[in-house]
Amino acid sequence: MKVTIVGCSGSFPGPDSPASCYLLEAEGFRLLLDFGAGALGALQRHIGLYEVDAICLSHLHADHCLDMCAYHVARTYGPDAPYPRVPVYAPGDAPHRLAAAYGMPDEPGMETAFAFERLRPGTFEIGPFTVTAGLVNHPVEAYGFRVSYGGRSVAYSGDTGETAELVRLAEEADLLLCEASFVDQPDLPADLHLSGRQAAEHAAKARVGRLVLTHLVPWHDQARILDDASRGGYGGPIELARSGAVYELA
Ligand SMILES: [Zn+2]
Ligand SMILES: [Zn+2]
Repeated sequence: MKVTIVGCSGSFPGPDSPASCYLLEAEGFRLLLDFGAGALGALQRHIGLYEVDAICLSHLHADHCLDMCAYHVARTYGPDAPYPRVPVYAPGDAPHRLAAAYGMPDEPGMETAFAFERLRPGTFEIGPFTVTAGLVNHPVEAYGFRVSYGGRSVAYSGDTGETAELVRLAEEADLLLCEASFVDQPDLPADLHLSGRQAAEHAAKARVGRLVLTHLVPWHDQARILDDASRGGYGGPIELARSGAVYELA
């Protein structure tokens, strides 16, 4: 499985990265985790505009799903339209919320371009991947994911505060893409986001092979986030996510 970080900027795009979007590839199948603001542009550095086979949306905050609007345009009005509908696994309110974001009526909404499947906690197959979705700790319905193929696994936190569910999803994963939105300090807001230290604590409990800190908010000093993570008790490799970074899990 090949994992490409398309976008890793937290909450809004930064100068060097779109908002959240990760491309997972195996057997020629291409799965996106999240499709945040600006991601459709950077995605085209890695695959063709029409080569997305499925999309999972962790939650419906704009920095995780807004480029669904842009991709709807591409698949509805492109030169060879209509294109096959892309399966989209998302919280149940996604068809309504994305139609509203676009400014279109709910019927047919984006169903002409996408086939929405309601996410629920559990394990299911998407193309060659085995995907486990689990509810994480954020103010809206939000999922973390574990995606496995060929005996290798990547876990993705989505947006979350501290939660045992993330440890469960990431258990002995080869790679954990974990949000680190906060600079670590006393009395962090609960049930919202993680600091680098908290991300590393989750990585240690889950005994993952590698920790990549992501959802990096542009107003923070990123060196500070990495330094915070070094104090989380995790002994494996830790690095900051970077748009364009590729991880081959084989
Ligand atoms: Zn976010
Ligand atoms: Zn969020």
